[in-house]
Amino acid sequence: LSTTQHYWFFNQKLQDELVHEHQMVERLQQALRLGELQLFYQPQVSAVSGRVEQVEALLRWFPREGGVVSPAEFIPVAERSQLIERIGDWVIEEACRQRAEWKAEGLSDYRIDINLSGRQVAHPELFTRLEAALERHGLEPEDIGIELTENVLIKANTGLLDNLRRLYHRGMKIAIDDFGTGYSSLSYLKLFPVTSLKVDRSFVHDAPDQPSDRAIMAAAVFIGHQLGLEVVAEGVENEEQLELVRDLGCDLVQGYYCFKPMAAEDTRRLLGALVLD
Ligand code: C2E
Ligand code: CA
Ligand code: CA
Ligand code: CA
Repeated sequence: LSTTQHYWFFNQKLQDELVHEHQMVERLQQALRLGELQLFYQPQVSAVSGRVEQVEALLRWFPREGGVVSPAEFIPVAERSQLIERIGDWVIEEACRQRAEWKAEGLSDYRIDINLSGRQVAHPELFTRLEAALERHGLEPEDIGIELTENVLIKANTGLLDNLRRLYHRGMKIAIDDFGTGYSSLSYLKLFPVTSLKVDRSFVHDAPDQPSDRAIMAAAVFIGHQLGLEVVAEGVENEEQLELVRDLGCDLVQGYYCFKPMAAEDTRRLLGALVLD
């Protein structure tokens, strides 16, 4: 390829991507209007009691034309547009509605944790919006928790820190997601008010065969506990990994070995159930 051809090729590719992205944003706007978004829930099981103690809400998009689109595909696109705020508000509202429904059925102890994007946590109105949503649904701050990835924390500004401090003081649980994958994982523990850390699934995955991953996990558990945090092992896929993370002292386990994310109706029956011995 000559330089001009190369340039054209690159441009064309970039343009195709932009068109694709623009179409995706429009389609997502429509998805919100048409009610095609749904929250799935993945149980988190106590490593000690073996019972389902809480759940993480994970977004799913079921387009009318069939199939399901993964949040890994559409969340990054939504984050590059303003749309993430509307989607984020929808997630807050829907999680609160579901929490209130379960509470009304007598399932009072099972917190729902939601994932927040960087734009959402830095928004000056996040605290007020969360408070308003709790209020609307008659919930307490401990009914809903939030998860922030290290990618979000690395871009932290005063707005984000302010929101986190206020939420923390109100008694809301705050988790660092994908812990150990960021550039300064340890300093996040010092800088941000958090209540739990979720050890990234890459460590869980490799720990049975890699002494270094095992050592990192053990250290994360130790530091977490020294700081009074709850430690969650993510992405537990088999019995070997399960035994290992339990031996290492993780407090909660989450992963396909226990349960895949599932619809609210299916999750309901599992809340409080004894699922590990
Ligand atoms: P995440 O917060 O790290 O969520 C965990 C992801 O790992 C989920 O993917 C879950 O289905 C998957 N997973 C759970 N157990 C296992 C396992 O044992 N093995 C493997 N390989 N994977 C497992 P999912 O649902 O596709 O979500 C992908 C990401 O999209 C999430 O990663 C989160 O960053 C983002 N996301 C999901 N829902 C929301 C949302 O409501 N708002 C925002 N801002 N982001 C969301
Ligand atoms: Ca998460
Ligand atoms: Ca994660
Ligand atoms: Ca992740």
